[in-house]
Amino acid sequence: MLVVVTGVSGTGKTTLGLGLSQALGIPFLDADDFHPPANIEKMSSGEPLTDADRQPWLASLAAKLLEMEGKGGAVLACSALKNAYREQLQVSESLRWIHLVGDRDLIWQRMLARQNHYMKARLLDSQLAIWEQPRVGHLVAISGTPAQVLEVSLHYLKMQDMKMNMGVIGMGVMGKSLALNLAENGVSVSLYNRFVAGKEEGIAQKVLLENPEFTQMAAFEDLAAFVASLATPRRILMMIPAGAAIDAQLDALIPILEKDDLVIDGGNSFYLDSDRRVNRLKEVGMHFLPMGVSGGEEGARKGPSIMPGGNAEGYAMVADFLGRISAKDKDGKPCVTYVGPGGSGHFIKMVHNSIEYGEMQVLAELVHFLRFGFGCTAAQVSAILSDWGKGELKSFLLEITADLLLFKEGGELLLDKILDQAGQKGTGAWSLTTALEYGIPYSPLAEAVNARGVSGEKAMRLSFSKTFQHEFQKVEGSLEAWLPKIKEAYALARIINHEVGFRLMKMVSDTKGWGLNFNEIARIWTNGCIIRSGLMERISANYADQVAFFEIPGVKEQVISGRKALAELVGLGVTNGFALPVMSAGINYLLGRITADSSASVIQAQRDYFGAHTYQRKDDPSGKFYHTQWTNS
Ligand code: NAP
Repeated sequence: MLVVVTGVSGTGKTTLGLGLSQALGIPFLDADDFHPPANIEKMSSGEPLTDADRQPWLASLAAKLLEMEGKGGAVLACSALKNAYREQLQVSESLRWIHLVGDRDLIWQRMLARQNHYMKARLLDSQLAIWEQPRVGHLVAISGTPAQVLEVSLHYLKMQDMKMNMGVIGMGVMGKSLALNLAENGVSVSLYNRFVAGKEEGIAQKVLLENPEFTQMAAFEDLAAFVASLATPRRILMMIPAGAAIDAQLDALIPILEKDDLVIDGGNSFYLDSDRRVNRLKEVGMHFLPMGVSGGEEGARKGPSIMPGGNAEGYAMVADFLGRISAKDKDGKPCVTYVGPGGSGHFIKMVHNSIEYGEMQVLAELVHFLRFGFGCTAAQVSAILSDWGKGELKSFLLEITADLLLFKEGGELLLDKILDQAGQKGTGAWSLTTALEYGIPYSPLAEAVNARGVSGEKAMRLSFSKTFQHEFQKVEGSLEAWLPKIKEAYALARIINHEVGFRLMKMVSDTKGWGLNFNEIARIWTNGCIIRSGLMERISANYADQVAFFEIPGVKEQVISGRKALAELVGLGVTNGFALPVMSAGINYLLGRITADSSASVIQAQRDYFGAHTYQRKDDPSGKFYHTQWTNS
């Protein structure tokens, strides 16, 4: 084995090198001993070496390493501050790197304490300035005792020969949290983040350094080395942005993977892209899992809801790992299930997010109306929501909304300082276009997307509010009298949001022949995900394919009792100047769906009038199409 220990002067290369040499039973070499006299003289006088000065020195070190490999190996301590120097020393595939890193002040103190060394301590800053983030090998923090540094280094050297259970690509918010979750649950994991010179350097290494307690992790920014570190068949989870980045990452991965390897896309990709990618990997004999993950950063770290679709064989390869890291439902079962073929996992995640948009918007509408229509303080609204959250209305979003209404910054409510322009990343709008494509009424959840769009037009809103002299009106009447109705209206608005989403899922599942299991989907959404709630538990326990969503036991009663309350609340709100887009679309949607004789007769008559589009008649059950000459001209 060849090992090179690198680091700026004062990091303890010699101490560690000697320790490794003893532990591994191979000789120790100090790169300083190979400097030509001219270099030593320069350094002793405090003058930094140039790259030209280093060339002969590096060449002799490379030759020495090759010679030592033939003799059974060696440990070399060498500053090797730049990647170009390290590449010159990479004489063999079996060469391993340990890079010592530490706080500047700590290194400085250690340098000052050293004696009989020709390196001047004041050269430290110049060394740190040229030090480059290594691209291969392991960073080891020098803050521990020499024995600890030796132990960690030996562990990493051993790890480099170990094959890891899983690989995670993308050390952003989600990838890092999922990787740590895997490691905590006994899955050894290789971490990879792309290398972008000057911008994205050593990201995976940093995760390792920040989490020394997880010893079964290795870090890479060379994709081939990352792939090579994995046990076969390989299991790789990508947590990177949806769209072109996924295809580009697959382009880079596929040529270096092998038949039967598995790639998982855990991001929020569009489900039709995922359909295509499942086929792409199938054609080359590999598995692809488009996988929805919900729960945000905390969920990913402690237990998300996981929605894998795609290739069932591929799912079997990671079912155990996913079960270990996922949230658990009330019976202790993992909140993960094989959703169905193709892009179905990403499809249901998309609809999950669309319901999430609706749930968030309803809460936003209520908070606003309660504060500025009923004159409640933020703390009072928080108390109302908290109270609701103790019963069957409990939900994660309700809970965090109650919480954020209490958050102060400098004694003032932070919420009131947040610009009222809501962001979005795509899943809400994709759900809407899918619903339009499949002819599924989607107005309540569509309004949640539109509301974010309207919020984005802040300048227009400011200008129009003056032009049209818009102001909120205070509600006449007591909050106490209204509160039970508001609660019922809220419960119903939420039921409608869920019904709309589940209806879209059913339509797409039936059309595409996916055979989605909606009890099971609701079950994995009872914990870990953003729309976890008491309502979801009821849906999971009582929804069946043959039951219409609105007729689920427990739901049906709330539809009946909440109808009037939602209509009255919406009426009160809009009359007093409050936009309640999701709640008003919700009551309209519900009324439309429970109306036996609708206004569509007028539409049909109009269509036939101006365009001879024909119509069917109520008094002719045969379904025959009629056309009428509506005018004499
Ligand atoms: P993030 O924090 O922005 O991290 C994105 C990661 O992808 C980073 O490691 C980034 O590396 C890497 N990356 C960016 N562009 C890349 C490219 N072209 N090629 C390769 N790698 C690239 O994002 P995130 O929140 O973890 O989200 C990752 C995915 O999960 C997204 O699809 C997101 O929609 C989805 N998701 C997010 C959440 C959430 O709550 N955040 C929840 C569920 C799902 P650099 O550091 O080098 O830029």
